Amino acid sequence: MQYDDSIDNSRQYLRLALEMIGKHGLPTDPLNYCIWYEYASGKNKELNTAIDNHLQSNGTFSEEVCRQLFNQYIAGEAETVSTLVREELNKVFAEIIGAIQTTNQHFSQSEKNLGTINESIVSNLSESDLERIVDQIKHEIKSLESSSGSFKEQLEQATLEIDQLKTKLARYRDEALKDPLTRIDNRRGFGKKLKETISKARADGTSLCLIIADIDHFKKVNDTHGHLVGDNVIRMVAATIKESIKGRDLAARLGGEEFAILLPDTPFDGAMKLANDMRLAFERLDLKKKSTGESLGKISLSFGVTNYKKGETAEEFVNRADEALYQSKNTGRNKVTGF
Ligand code: GH3
Ligand code: MG
Ligand code: MG
Repeated sequence: MQYDDSIDNSRQYLRLALEMIGKHGLPTDPLNYCIWYEYASGKNKELNTAIDNHLQSNGTFSEEVCRQLFNQYIAGEAETVSTLVREELNKVFAEIIGAIQTTNQHFSQSEKNLGTINESIVSNLSESDLERIVDQIKHEIKSLESSSGSFKEQLEQATLEIDQLKTKLARYRDEALKDPLTRIDNRRGFGKKLKETISKARADGTSLCLIIADIDHFKKVNDTHGHLVGDNVIRMVAATIKESIKGRDLAARLGGEEFAILLPDTPFDGAMKLANDMRLAFERLDLKKKSTGESLGKISLSFGVTNYKKGETAEEFVNRADEALYQSKNTGRNKVTGF
C-alpha cells in the first residue's frame, strides 16, 4: 500500500492503532502495529471488512487471528512496514534533536551566565564578593554537568530504541515468511528459499529435487467435520511432513492444503522414495477428532516429484512438479508421480 499521508495523518493513525492494540490487549509488536495502523488509515478495504466482520461475530482478537489477518491482507505489502519503521525512526530522531536543542539552550544560558560572572571579576573585590563568585562558577559547572549527563542518558535511550527497532524488524521479516497455522514457511518463505537453493545447486552442480503434495478430497473433510477440524488436519499433515524430512530439506505450505518439500543435494530416486514413504505414512495415520476421539477416517495425499534441470527458471521447475502432481490426481489420487 502506498502512503502519501502528511505526518499529522500518520501520527493520528499511529495513535489510533495504539489505542486499538491496547483495547484488545494485544502485544505492541510490529505485526500488530501494521494491522492496526493499516486499519486506522482505512485504506485497505478488505482488511477493514475482515476486521469489522470478526469484531461483529467475536468481539475480541487473539494473537492467532491477528497473524492470520496479517498474512492474508498485509504480508505482501512491503510499503506498510517501511512506513511504520519510518514512523518509529522519526520518533527517535525527534527525541535526539529535542535533546540536542535542550542541551544547547542550557549551554548557551551557562555561557551567558559565565560571561556575566567574568565581567564581575574586577579589581577591589571584597572577600565575600570573591566567595559569591566562586559559588556562582561552581553552580554553573554543576548545571553544565547535569545537562550533559541527561544528554548522555537521552542518547543512550535513543540507542536502545534503535536497537529494539532493529530486533522488531528482524522478527517482522521472519514472521512474514511463516504460515501462521502450521508454523512452517509460507509461499513467500518458500519462494525465497527456492531461489537461494537453486543458486546453490547451480553453483555446486548438486541435484536438487522438489515434491509438491496436496491433500486428496480435502473439501470433504471440511464439509463433514467443519473448518476447525480441517485446520487441525492441515496442522497434522504439516507435522508429519516435517517429521519425514531432515537437515537442509525444507517444508512449506504453499496455501490451502498444498505443500512443497525442497530437497537440496538429493537424487531423483531419493526424492521419489521419500515421497512414497510420506504417502505410506499418511496411509497409516489414524486421525481422531481432538474433542470426541471420533475417527476422521483415512486421509491421503497426492504427490508430484521432479528434479531441477540446469538453466531452467524456478517457475519452470515448480510447474513441472505441479504437472506431476496433477497427473497423480488424474490417475486416482494417493499416488506419487515423478517427471
Ligand atoms: P483434490 O483431491 O482434487 O485436491 O480435492 P480437494 O477437495 O482437496 O481440493 P479443492 O481444491 O477442491 O478444495 C480444497 C479445499 O481446501 C477447499 C478449501 O475450502 C479448503 N481449504 C483451503 N485452505 C484451508 C484452510 O486453511 N483451512 C481449512 N480448514 N480448509 C482450507
Ligand atoms: Mg486437495
Ligand atoms: Mg489444492
